[in-house]
Amino acid sequence: MLTGKTLFFLCVLCLTCLAATPATDINAENKVIQAALRPSSLESNLHNLTDEIGGRVPGTTAMQHAVEWGTQAFTAAGADSVHAEGFTISNSWAEGPTELTATTSYQIGDKVGGTILSVFRVRSVSVAWAPALAPAKHIPIVDVGEGTEADFQKAGDIAGKLLLVHTTVLKTWDDLFAEYAKAPPIIDLAVKGKAKAIAFMATREHDILYRHTNSGEGEIDKLPMVIVAREDGERIARLLAAGNKVWGDLSIPNQLGGPIRSSNVIAEIKGSDKPDEFVIVGAHLDSWELGTGALDNGCNAALVIDALRAIKASGVKPRRTIRFILFSGEEQGLIGSHSYAAAHRHELDKAAGVIIYDSGTGKTTGFSVGGRKDIIDTAKELISPLAQFDVKDLKPDMEWGTDHFDFMLEGVPTFVADQVEANYLENYHAISDTYDKVDFPQLKKHVAEAAALAVGLANLPEKIGPRLTHDQIEQTMRDTNSVEMLKADGIWDDWVSGKRGRQK
Ligand SMILES: [Zn+2]
Repeated sequence: MLTGKTLFFLCVLCLTCLAATPATDINAENKVIQAALRPSSLESNLHNLTDEIGGRVPGTTAMQHAVEWGTQAFTAAGADSVHAEGFTISNSWAEGPTELTATTSYQIGDKVGGTILSVFRVRSVSVAWAPALAPAKHIPIVDVGEGTEADFQKAGDIAGKLLLVHTTVLKTWDDLFAEYAKAPPIIDLAVKGKAKAIAFMATREHDILYRHTNSGEGEIDKLPMVIVAREDGERIARLLAAGNKVWGDLSIPNQLGGPIRSSNVIAEIKGSDKPDEFVIVGAHLDSWELGTGALDNGCNAALVIDALRAIKASGVKPRRTIRFILFSGEEQGLIGSHSYAAAHRHELDKAAGVIIYDSGTGKTTGFSVGGRKDIIDTAKELISPLAQFDVKDLKPDMEWGTDHFDFMLEGVPTFVADQVEANYLENYHAISDTYDKVDFPQLKKHVAEAAALAVGLANLPEKIGPRLTHDQIEQTMRDTNSVEMLKADGIWDDWVSGKRGRQK
């Protein structure tokens, strides 16, 4: 039976069959892999970026230094050219010394001393791009459970109160996506009920705090919000459940400002045969600043630089140009890669694939190919030399959440490294995301994978697949059941209105 879905994929497949006779250049890929596995400045580059420069939030001096670091490291790696391209983020944001102190009252026995007040510090950080809150004393804290509508109804009047929201401990990628998805409706209910602020319990145990944003495009959020250490949050919840009243003294002196400029860093190896066609290897350079952004995503920024070094050192001359891009503004909502895709829309017909790494140093299992079943056969050949690293899977799903996204919405074939969790989630955006967490032997393998796949894509007789039209992209969204995900993240409206993605 020929369903609509099958028809769509057959059409795309035919185009591919006509265009690309899969004659993959395995020999070149193997040379690049060998070069990638040799000693390099991967470790020292990452040390410079994380231990010396530190966390890298757009708008800060550290971010500017990181852009200079990227420019110099690309040059040292042998790039044919390096330049920066600026873009704007609508607001600047920096945390001041957030402080939350809880007060509760209790009695010992019936007679001794009457009511006693107990005051304890609640370790907390502001949610990123959330508004400031002038010091406020004695705010009643109310437990709103997990923040469902029923929970809010049960909590009653929340006006002027600090809402404590329960969370579950982060263990899987699905937990992480759920954490992001749950927050916006909670914020809406809190705003509607005129709450003073929200305190989300940390999804990490052992007092680990982390930076989180619920604002999608660098806009300032609707309500002051903090993440509180899980242990402190649970203590408050137990007190409230036992009938003790708990109040908070809360101060969130965030510094907010107007639009800021940030930059992506772009290096190239010029193609020998089709220099106007290009493959992109990218990772984001920016990070949150509680830790030093080593797993997210300094290690992969260093990977991108080392992939360039490896290809140059191998002596392989790619037929198409390879662009190595360190994106910025990723953590504020993919702003750097979105800006780049929009600014380069006129040449995206020439894009021959976008490879992105953004999940720390957990072992790569394969690549997610943006819903493109039509490119899987050729991609299988291209990744065959990576079988030595156990990289085998090609998932035809459409993922959200990293810098391939706006290229995917422009119809360009994308490859996002699928990686095992390893130690990524426990350190995600956290104070503990530091250089010592990086698995360098594994990262070297990822350099080899990225460099080999880039050269494989660059050397194909014809591009791995056509740039999809608007209708084909939308059909792919439907075929991969991605519409609900896009709606939940608020991106569907932007797609439909033409604010985001390919429009013809
Ligand atoms: Zn990241």
